[in-house]
Amino acid sequence: MRIAIASYGQETSSFSPVPTTLETFELYGLFEGDEILHKCREVGSIGGFLQTMDAGLDWTPLPIIHGWAGASGALTAETLDFFADKIRTGLEQALPVDAVYFALHGAAVAEQAHDSETYLLDIVRAVIGDDVPLVASLDHHANLTQGMVDGIDALVAHRTQPHDQFETGVLAGQLLLGILRDGTKPTTAWRKIPLITHQEQFLTSGGSMKAWFDLARDMEAGPGVLSASTLPMQPWLDVPEGGWAVAVVTDGDQSMAESLADELADKAWSMRESFCRLDSITPEAAVRQGVAAEGGLVVLSDTGDSVWGGATGDSTTILAELIRQQVPAMTLVPMEDAETVEAAIAVGVGGTLTTMVGGRQDPIFGRPLQVTAKVAAIGGGRFDVQLLGFESFDPGRAVLLEIGAIRLLVNEKRGIGGNHPAVYEQFGIDIADAHMVVLKTASNWQYYQQWISEVIRVDTPGGTTSHLEELPWQHLPRPIYPLDADFSKESS
Ligand SMILES: [Zn+2]
Repeated sequence: MRIAIASYGQETSSFSPVPTTLETFELYGLFEGDEILHKCREVGSIGGFLQTMDAGLDWTPLPIIHGWAGASGALTAETLDFFADKIRTGLEQALPVDAVYFALHGAAVAEQAHDSETYLLDIVRAVIGDDVPLVASLDHHANLTQGMVDGIDALVAHRTQPHDQFETGVLAGQLLLGILRDGTKPTTAWRKIPLITHQEQFLTSGGSMKAWFDLARDMEAGPGVLSASTLPMQPWLDVPEGGWAVAVVTDGDQSMAESLADELADKAWSMRESFCRLDSITPEAAVRQGVAAEGGLVVLSDTGDSVWGGATGDSTTILAELIRQQVPAMTLVPMEDAETVEAAIAVGVGGTLTTMVGGRQDPIFGRPLQVTAKVAAIGGGRFDVQLLGFESFDPGRAVLLEIGAIRLLVNEKRGIGGNHPAVYEQFGIDIADAHMVVLKTASNWQYYQQWISEVIRVDTPGGTTSHLEELPWQHLPRPIYPLDADFSKESS
């Protein structure tokens, strides 16, 4: 069996001022052809898919393109064209193919297409035709659209947050093995849910999100159900088909798929108020609570500046409060700011500089902050780190600044926002010595798990603010909950 493989992942924040270019993809690794097999076998959805297929079928993988770009603004037109051309020509050269696996994020906007996944799926279908099976995996924060459902024979989304990329690839492989080896005939029903909520209740380990995802797992345990996917769309996507969704794939039983999709959608709608609950507290209260905490590492989650949600990663809100309260114990703070890196390198290790840091990129929320800091170390460059489905990362040059007990790590390029300890360990910092760490994420603190004693959500301004009502929405379908007053889903 000859099976073509491609991946294309980016999460667009409609409110980010930072466009996504090929350089953005290259920060995480942009691979073509056999390089994909070498680089991705152990990580990400591609890795899970490859290992599952190896174990289940005598097959020939035909790897075409692998690109993942994290979260930021929309792709430039040239960037989507690059993927479109690679996929078209790669598939044409790979023909004949017996199937296609396409690993997608599912919430990527480009200048020429608000639904860039459908744009690419249409190209795939134009080359392979309608009869060749196409299985796709999605991030569960995808914005599922009619075009995507039409182009895909069987889909599956992540089942947990933190994201289970590898396992999702395994499930996609199993879906395809079912079709090619076992003769399953997937049929899909899906529902759009008029919901868009902030990310503070997005973890699947508890609360309403767990109850909703658990219902999908119960459905999958039933006979004839190939996958049941719950898709709470990432909340910064301002597009005409935006909103939560569900998709149920059965083995040839359309009416069962339809009724399960109804049940899954109704479950989310019935819990809509609980998905909107805010846990975050003011920066002043959060820093005070963090300082007072005893034992272990305290995470200050910078909800408004989540780099994996598309924020700029240069918010100074929490840093300003840490300085104001003169925190007494080691506190790690990440920042993306090329100008400060340049200035610190000019001063040199051991020198002191007074400069404005951060707040430069976000035209709505950005507030540069004046600091006086000692340059403690200079380093940076690409390093190997397995996270979120990629295996190395290049955040550019980095400097470590000391402001009292604060260790401010400033990176040249947009990056992982200090969300992995490796960015500090490269400077010889032992995380066990830190009392607090600011993470630029609202849910992905799993890489610090061994040290964490407490997580405090901080209500901060930024591109990933929890206050969705403050964002300038233009394209979302209306009405949508909770931006509009309560309404009946059936009337939407
Ligand atoms: Zn996601």
